[in-house]
Amino acid sequence: MTPNGHDPRPVLVTGGAGFLGSHLCERLLREGHRVLAVDNLSSGRVDNVRHLLAHSGFELRQQDATALQGVRASAVFNLACPASPPFYQRDPIGTTLTCVLGTLRALDIGHDQGVPVLQASTSEIYGDPDVHPQTEDYRGNVSTLGPRACYDEGKRCAETLCCDYQRQHGVAIRLARIFNTYGPRMLPGDGRVVSNFIVQALRGEDITLYGDGQQSRSFCFVDDTIDGLLRLMASGIDEPVNLGNPHEVTMRELAERILRLTDSRSRLVHRPLPADDPRRRCPDIQRARTRLGWAPRVPLDEGLARTAAHLRAVLGLRAPARRTGMALARTSRPPTLREPTP
Ligand code: NAD
Ligand code: UDP
Repeated sequence: MTPNGHDPRPVLVTGGAGFLGSHLCERLLREGHRVLAVDNLSSGRVDNVRHLLAHSGFELRQQDATALQGVRASAVFNLACPASPPFYQRDPIGTTLTCVLGTLRALDIGHDQGVPVLQASTSEIYGDPDVHPQTEDYRGNVSTLGPRACYDEGKRCAETLCCDYQRQHGVAIRLARIFNTYGPRMLPGDGRVVSNFIVQALRGEDITLYGDGQQSRSFCFVDDTIDGLLRLMASGIDEPVNLGNPHEVTMRELAERILRLTDSRSRLVHRPLPADDPRRRCPDIQRARTRLGWAPRVPLDEGLARTAAHLRAVLGLRAPARRTGMALARTSRPPTLREPTP
């Protein structure tokens, strides 16, 4: 994976039209790589990469990752998989198959081409953790039976496949354990908490707090996560690396922040807690700090404001007359991408 056109093969990004994938494609193009994005558009959208389609170094191919083969690539980022619980639980068998077969295909390409494969793994492999914060050597507390298992166990099996391809075939692997990431291009109907709360706040609808709202998550802004993925790919590190923001918040606190940032009068209402919902989640990022020189930089309020500005534009809502908070001070026009100068 050498930038500025030294390797004629594109970087393959499976799931390239999704939330993270589209930001990754954009960054790779900006750094001078050619990019092939493969996506079945199940939870991704062409709109996420529409601004890249005119770029001569970019190709979007609508295809299922489980059927991918014979692709030339200079590196593989394997991101194909729905990430939002309502999305991945809609077709749980399909989710497991994507995790397992999709990763198998990505690893086969890495093997054929002699190039590294980065697996988009997840904090979900820790399940409902009884070690806090979660270090990479914690083995997790995951139900094999519940509604989240299709994703959690699928992703765990994907990590196993990566390690076995490395041991059996010498494939260079990178295991990114990504914690909750948010930012522009989350779909308004995505179902994840940040987009749900922001959309509800902007529309003046009730904010749906599942359970008592005391469960925690740690939210990383998308630009920081993408930076971590690129650093990890460029490193020779084959051990798992947590990528996430160690700033832990309860869902109640998140809701209150969003109400304040959007100047919303929405009410907080409680809804039943989904089965197997992890109680706490926070990454220990010591490995990423020391080995990648990486740490998140975007503070939560700034990232939420940028996400709110994007969702406001997508929903076609105008900013209220009384402007408060950074959300209203920014626009969310997609960035224009210039061709790299030779
Ligand atoms: P997303 O749903 O926006 O993107 C996933 C993309 O993969 C979509 O474009 C979807 O259409 C595509 N896809 C799904 N199944 C496919 C298949 N069988 N073949 C081809 N394409 C397929 O989700 P995201 O948040 O961008 O997540 C991207 C990756 O990062 C996923 O693998 C996810 O598990 C991982 N991850 C994300 C987060 C997060 O907080 N965003 C956290 C941990 C891990
Ligand atoms: N959540 C919530 N209201 C919502 C959506 C989610 O309270 O409208 C909670 C959910 O129960 C979980 C947390 O927010 O405790 C994060 O949920 P999300 O689906 O974003 O991610 P994950 O559970 O996979 O971390």
